[in-house]
Amino acid sequence: MSAATVPVHEIRSTCCYCGVGCGVIIETDGQSVTGVRGDPDHPANHGALCSKGSTLHLTMRPDVQSVRLLHPEMRADTTMPRRRAGWDETLGFVADRFAEIIREHGPDAVAFYVSGQLLTEDYYVFNKLAKGLVGTNNIDTNSRLCMSSAVAGYKQSLGADAPPCAYADIDAAQCLFIAGSNTAIAHPILYRRIERARAARPDLKVIVVDPRVTDTAREADLHLQILPGTDVALFHGMLHVILWEGLLDHAFIRDHTEGFEALKSLVREYTPKSVAQTCGIAEADLVRAATWFGAPGATLSLYCQGLNQSTSGTAKNTALINLHLATGHIGRPGSGPFSLTGQPNAMGGREVGGLANLLSAHRDLGNAEHRAEVARAWGVADVPAAPGKTAVELFDALHDGSIKAVWIACTNPAQSMPDQRRVHEALRRAELVVVQEAYRDTETAWYADVLLPATSWAEKDGTVTNSERRISRVRRAVSPPGQARDDWAIVVDFARCLEARLRPGATTLFPYADACSVWNEHRALTAGRDLDITGLSYDRLETAGPAQWPYPAGAASGRARLYVDGVFPTPNGRARFVTTPWQGVKEPADARYPFRLTTARLRDQWHGMSRTGSIGRLFGNAPEPLLGMHPGDLLRRGLDDGALVRVQSRRGVIHVRVSADQAVRPGQACLPMHWGARFLTGGESLGVNTLTSPAFDPVSKQPELKAAAVRIERAVLPWRLVACAVPAHGAAIALADALAPTMRAFEFASLALVGAEPAREGVVVRLAALEAPDRATLDDLDRRLGLAHAHVIRYEDARRQVGRRIDVADGRLRAFRLSGHETDIAAASWLQEWLVRGEPVAPVRRFLLAPTSQAPAGVVRRGRTVCACLDVTDSAIGEAATRIGLDGEAGVRAVCDALRCGTNCGSCMPEVRRLVGAVAREVVA
Ligand code: SF4
Repeated sequence: MSAATVPVHEIRSTCCYCGVGCGVIIETDGQSVTGVRGDPDHPANHGALCSKGSTLHLTMRPDVQSVRLLHPEMRADTTMPRRRAGWDETLGFVADRFAEIIREHGPDAVAFYVSGQLLTEDYYVFNKLAKGLVGTNNIDTNSRLCMSSAVAGYKQSLGADAPPCAYADIDAAQCLFIAGSNTAIAHPILYRRIERARAARPDLKVIVVDPRVTDTAREADLHLQILPGTDVALFHGMLHVILWEGLLDHAFIRDHTEGFEALKSLVREYTPKSVAQTCGIAEADLVRAATWFGAPGATLSLYCQGLNQSTSGTAKNTALINLHLATGHIGRPGSGPFSLTGQPNAMGGREVGGLANLLSAHRDLGNAEHRAEVARAWGVADVPAAPGKTAVELFDALHDGSIKAVWIACTNPAQSMPDQRRVHEALRRAELVVVQEAYRDTETAWYADVLLPATSWAEKDGTVTNSERRISRVRRAVSPPGQARDDWAIVVDFARCLEARLRPGATTLFPYADACSVWNEHRALTAGRDLDITGLSYDRLETAGPAQWPYPAGAASGRARLYVDGVFPTPNGRARFVTTPWQGVKEPADARYPFRLTTARLRDQWHGMSRTGSIGRLFGNAPEPLLGMHPGDLLRRGLDDGALVRVQSRRGVIHVRVSADQAVRPGQACLPMHWGARFLTGGESLGVNTLTSPAFDPVSKQPELKAAAVRIERAVLPWRLVACAVPAHGAAIALADALAPTMRAFEFASLALVGAEPAREGVVVRLAALEAPDRATLDDLDRRLGLAHAHVIRYEDARRQVGRRIDVADGRLRAFRLSGHETDIAAASWLQEWLVRGEPVAPVRRFLLAPTSQAPAGVVRRGRTVCACLDVTDSAIGEAATRIGLDGEAGVRAVCDALRCGTNCGSCMPEVRRLVGAVAREVVA
């Protein structure tokens, strides 16, 4: 059968990245995933996908699959290398070790660390394994790093962990209050909805609260560029203004809330003048924000990690919810406090109680009745009462030896946790590390004694819940590779092995035949709870499509909006005003560490890059992690834009290049969060989170990933190297992995994939050191890059520590390495571009061994990718904007018509608008 006649099957599923939860249609030829597009019938996205979702199929390419974990691997002794083993042997070994440790040290000597990317079914069985079979509450999740402050905020204020809003509320809001969320970048498809709402209703007011001038902030009607960590003061100050301006909803406060008088007396101190000073904003802006927020009509808050990832995260959440309760902006169309979840199934994890302090179906560990209900349903004597260790506590316990064995599933704490040096040490010290993963090359996998291959997106079956409480099906489109198995199935098989050792002869607690039977047990536990889904089933999801909870038995549909009757799930039915004062910032800048560092998300990367980091196209917009600093700070420090700097916090040191960024306030700095030790290493560096703080919120236990005090100084690493190679038969990611051990030998090492076309994807590596490495290290690097052959063009000056190697194959560049001092590597950028584009080498041959920083005449620089879908660069947009010469939306439209940028997924539109606006300002100037 010819390629043209291979039938294409289409399977509806859900995007596996962010909490927007977009529906996708997976195209497959029966063997592999051939394409993906947005599901027009899915209510979260109506057919649209962002740059990450629309490239999901690329992550299933055969060459990218080379980094998949295909077989179980194990070692009985940590000094030995792992060996391939069968499933039975591996799970039997782990069950023996777990049983031994539990018998000798008690159930709290083991722990599970799971993920908001697991499906609800996976999450459910993990939770039952820990709390029901092992008898420990030591099960926590990367969702602790993401939204546990939102959980704590909802529970304290409203009585239950339930986002009361729906995406449709964006269409009905008169004021959008976006706090601590760069929605344009982190939740692009939701931002498209905001753009449409603004276009349809120009009077819709958008306020953004963010310490940086993000793309979301730039497009707002009002940006409150507060100092980091001052959100609680801001929200109390806004309430002060709302009180004075007579914008309270007295009837709502009287009938549906409690505790207002105490809050009123607290916020009396938060005068606009003092709050404006605390937050570093204009008093008039504070008053305007409060007035817009409190105006009659509908105000919807959207918030995310800027509020949650903080030592005062719970207080930030409750202070914001106070504003909604005081103005009655809740339970009505277009109103409410709407926490956006970062991960695709953080909500599902909360629903099954998959955190150290929660129980199934929004029950509480601290409630004896709740524990008894769950124990009865599971058929166990009891569920332990004491909360387990949360993320930071769990790795601390692993570090001090009180937890001896950890099972990590579908997450990469050796990249994502704060204070990476301690986390890596903890994993090194552990008696047993089990890693259940789809990818074999994550930083956490380096420490695994046991690797269990798990299925990934397009191979799994189950459900996820998005930010608006909407449950969607995830469906299998292709067979799993190698011996990979579904996460829930791995857990069930292990649980049965462990049961044979801990409770021999007893009926299994894990009698599941498929994902559906797991989900049905979860569903039964929700009966009568706030998230009751007893009216929903896999069949119903099949016929009616994705549905919001609650969806009790007999309901015709799920509920779009909660608390419409003003009754809250608290003992007296009233929502609570929470009176927590602003308590200053932890780890403020001081003389030794004078800058405040924050971390941020990028448009095209996802979390620790285990999936997006395998695709060259997704590096096009941001090829390396740049430290954003205000141009004035660069000037004062004598640093050039692009200089390599040393960044030190109280926890460690990394090297990165600096970028002049007007979006960052003086005295602050910003790094993208995604780079771990796999892509950014050298010296003591274990990636960006080497610097971040493990201090956590006292209620939610969510760590402070958004603020650390740092020192920034010029790096004294005069020897530099840039190398780039396009492997002959694809598999750039495999080459990247092969380079990793060599990279760690240098003080600074950064690695990226390059190339928009899969056939010409390559790897670029940048290194820096005090002096040139020894010959053997350089030879090793050359060998891995394919630059050790006799036919390679080369130049060496050992005395000056300068070297150049160029490999040409079939008349085109295939690889190069430039090393020496800064000036000796200046030509790397045009050479890299020439190489990745696959241009014939003839026109530039004479420049190869005498490279200049200037591209030879006729070599037109492409610039940085802005539109990843249609491969349009910033240079092209700048040229088009200059040529067209139109300002505002007319100019943006004309540029997009000319270049087609932004016409596919639209994720680049905020950046396109920014670039066109910059050209217009230059013309005026
Ligand atoms: Fe996936 Fe993008 Fe939709 Fe998030 S916004 S679910 S990453 S397609």
